[in-house]
Amino acid sequence: MESKVLYYDKQGESIRCRVCPHNCLLDEGKFGVCGVRTVKNGELVAINYGEFTSAAVDPIEKKPLYHYKPSKSILSFGSFGCNMTCSFCQNYEISQSRPATQYMSIEKLINIIPTIENNVGIAFTYNEPMMWYEYIYEASKKIKENSNDTSVVVVTNGYINKEPLLKLLPYVDAMNIDLKGYTNKYYNKVCGARLEPVLETIKTANEHCHVEITTLLVSDENDSVEEVREIAQFVASVNENMPLHLSRYFPRYKMENEETKIEKIIRARYEATKYLKYVYVGNVGGVDNNTYCPKCNALLVRREGYSTEVYIKEDKCSLCGEKVHIII
Ligand code: SF4
Repeated sequence: MESKVLYYDKQGESIRCRVCPHNCLLDEGKFGVCGVRTVKNGELVAINYGEFTSAAVDPIEKKPLYHYKPSKSILSFGSFGCNMTCSFCQNYEISQSRPATQYMSIEKLINIIPTIENNVGIAFTYNEPMMWYEYIYEASKKIKENSNDTSVVVVTNGYINKEPLLKLLPYVDAMNIDLKGYTNKYYNKVCGARLEPVLETIKTANEHCHVEITTLLVSDENDSVEEVREIAQFVASVNENMPLHLSRYFPRYKMENEETKIEKIIRARYEATKYLKYVYVGNVGGVDNNTYCPKCNALLVRREGYSTEVYIKEDKCSLCGEKVHIII
């Protein structure tokens, strides 16, 4: 279904989309980088409103969110389209092309959420949710108006302009934001984007909701100790309690580099923990991904795969009383 785009400027016969930092200038019939916004009869429209490609009930740890409602499930829901072109994309079938979709009205979505067992709410994920902006904004607003206890989660690349981001954030409880690397060279070459707007999104989101960061460490691209240090230092400068997930890359889509060496991931984690209290490792079996109290080292959350046991009742260590920055 089509919907009007909320952020744009008319420039003569053309329209400049203002949803994300590409700020595409579009003529009649042309699509932006995201593949979902186009000019039709002189109006900028998004063609994926309410159109979903993927829906599943996942452990919230899979988003990944480790410090928001641990051990709960979340309805995970996505459409198609993306404003980045990452060579290693895990979901390129829905991010870089137009697959088959089904329509879901917001009213139906609101009715489904409470019927799912152990479910805390909805996560917009799989493709880039900000490229589904018109739908997720309206849905998030109505979901929160209907029940403030229902969680809204956004799993995003963070490549969105500040105005639409600020309009959405009052209805979002938690975000996982990819920080794909710490150089413009990497963002340009591998992702078709720029670093600076993502850093701005992380800073802005941190002022409004719970935020965790994911970095996929790609062998010989962004996995040096120096780059990991810069990532950790930046995250710590925003919020030293912000969890960082360092994820291991495997060859996928157009990227043919060898899988990242486990020793590099472990070394990266060691480096990042010099600056951050909570650093986790993704896509590596057999590593300790539990959460411990930063003060007395008591076990707070035990994780094995996606099986999670929580040993705290509030956001405090039950042994020493230290605040532990986990939303239960
Ligand atoms: S949302 Fe799409 S059309 Fe709009 S600026 Fe971004 S990539 Fe371009």
